[in-house]
Amino acid sequence: SKELGRNNFQFYTPAMNDQALERLRIEGELRHAVELNELVLHYQPQVDLHTGAIVGLEALVRWNHPILGMVQPGSFISLAEETGLIIPIGAWVLQTACRQAKAWQEMGFTQLRIAVNLSARQFTQASLLESIKDTLQETGLEARFLEIELTESSVMADIERNILTLRDLKSLGVQLSVDDFGTGHSSLAYLKRFPIDTLKIDRSFVRDIAINQDDASIVSSIISLAHNLKLNVIAEGVETASQMDLLRAQGCDEMQGYYFCKPLPSDQIETLLLNESST
Ligand code: C2E
Ligand code: CA
Ligand code: CA
Ligand code: CA
Repeated sequence: SKELGRNNFQFYTPAMNDQALERLRIEGELRHAVELNELVLHYQPQVDLHTGAIVGLEALVRWNHPILGMVQPGSFISLAEETGLIIPIGAWVLQTACRQAKAWQEMGFTQLRIAVNLSARQFTQASLLESIKDTLQETGLEARFLEIELTESSVMADIERNILTLRDLKSLGVQLSVDDFGTGHSSLAYLKRFPIDTLKIDRSFVRDIAINQDDASIVSSIISLAHNLKLNVIAEGVETASQMDLLRAQGCDEMQGYYFCKPLPSDQIETLLLNESST
């Protein structure tokens, strides 16, 4: 109302006004980022710790802004979630990642898996199942090669309802992984009721694994827990050889991190895949 508008106006300082305008401008630009083809995916390899082979790739979105350059997701994903723009952005990510994975499979990397991050807002959307099903059909990617990453906090939010959604997703044949594991409030009792395939150990536990006995114990417990529940375990944020060696010794299945490779554009991933397969 007018009344409210006037009241609000009184609280505005020039600085706040600038900030609010800046946010509005960015929101408006983000709204057009998909259609202007400004979003790009980078891919980070997930490596089998025992064979050294690249078994999967995680798709990570970036916004190639005409003025700001390559904007990292940390700067716009939460805005996208708040405004609902994550729905069209997420659909674009899913479509692009599945199409790319299918192309790599057709180049001969037939068992390559693609991991896509799903925000809480996408996860609770009524049309989620339909849109994943459609995307798989359109791109021709087999469901078992798509891994959906959900954060611990989004699956733990409304447990009874989420178990049903997870079951629906599983019935499509996709793989499900719990991202950032250990940072939220997981209830171990519920974990076994979730039809999930993979736990991703958050990088905050991996960081000091080689120098802090407590972190090493936590990681080793997560690995045992996951294996007892018949889950695959991926360690995130592996930056050094000693972290990798320890994880391998603890029986961790896969790793992802700068030590092996940072997220790269698709053409550089392609070169990497070709080099790996020829050696
Ligand atoms: P995440 O899903 O936990 O992704 C892992 C993040 O860790 C990525 O940051 C990756 O570049 C970074 N990383 C990988 N290896 C290392 C390492 O060895 N050391 C360190 N320090 N960092 C490493 P990025 O690409 O900036 O993405 C940040 C977050 O943005 C992601 O965290 C994810 O939550 C979100 N995000 C990215 N792409 C998407 C998307 O397409 N959809 C949604 N909903 N969220 C996304
Ligand atoms: Ca992730
Ligand atoms: Ca991750
Ligand atoms: Ca993570």
